[in-house]
Amino acid sequence: MNLKVTVLGCGNSAGVPMIGNFWGQCDPDEPRNRRTRASLAVASPETTLVVDTGPDFKLQINRENIQQLDAVIYTHGHADHLHGIDDLRIFRLRGKKVIPIFSDEKTIREIEERFAYLFMENGPDGLYPRAVEPIIFHPEFMGQPVVIGDIPVTPFVQSHGVAGTSLGFRFGDLAYSTDMTDLDQQALETISGIKTWVIDCNGYKMPANHVHGTLKSVLALNDIVQAKQVYLTHMPAFMDYKTVLEELPSGYEPAYDGLVIEVEA
Ligand SMILES: [Zn+2]
Repeated sequence: MNLKVTVLGCGNSAGVPMIGNFWGQCDPDEPRNRRTRASLAVASPETTLVVDTGPDFKLQINRENIQQLDAVIYTHGHADHLHGIDDLRIFRLRGKKVIPIFSDEKTIREIEERFAYLFMENGPDGLYPRAVEPIIFHPEFMGQPVVIGDIPVTPFVQSHGVAGTSLGFRFGDLAYSTDMTDLDQQALETISGIKTWVIDCNGYKMPANHVHGTLKSVLALNDIVQAKQVYLTHMPAFMDYKTVLEELPSGYEPAYDGLVIEVEA
């Protein structure tokens, strides 16, 4: 089966431009520098999933004209990956079904605490039906494929440095690793054999970063994984698209919002 993977957003927590139209080193005339907060859509002919619902969720869904949403899978609970979740109410009303949301237990608990009204039948003021249904990826799910709709998804635990852990996901021969500093042996085994890797490089030329990947860490990890095509994501305003593209070795490219990758699952 072929899956269509779309990079909905490849920006860091501030996006590019940052608020106040601050472009940093990014050329404002290069459309691929306009980066919304990190997110991915994965679609089969029958099912559409998204990974994370950041603050730009509605803009991304409208930009890609996504009409149907069957589930959301969350990498972790940081604001730039979660705070567009309110718009799931609208998919729930239009699709007339509760949206399943998948993540590890700590992330589901964070979402329940911060967006409790989305889990309530009729909400605190009786205005809205329950919008979401949580499904927990327990530790024994890690490295094991689950099928959501008809899309196989394999979650794995990633180090998010001093921020704790996040989840990465494998869809067929592609893996998505945002907000990641390092991977353990189980995660590396889970993504063994992938062709394409969308990976956090927020730290780019820094010698190290305490919560994100750097080019040095990305190259070292892909020495092991050997993905033929690597797309950098979670990029800040100091990473100009064309400059970075020229600096990268072959097989490595910065992602851009709207990038579509065909994946075999
Ligand atoms: Zn994060």
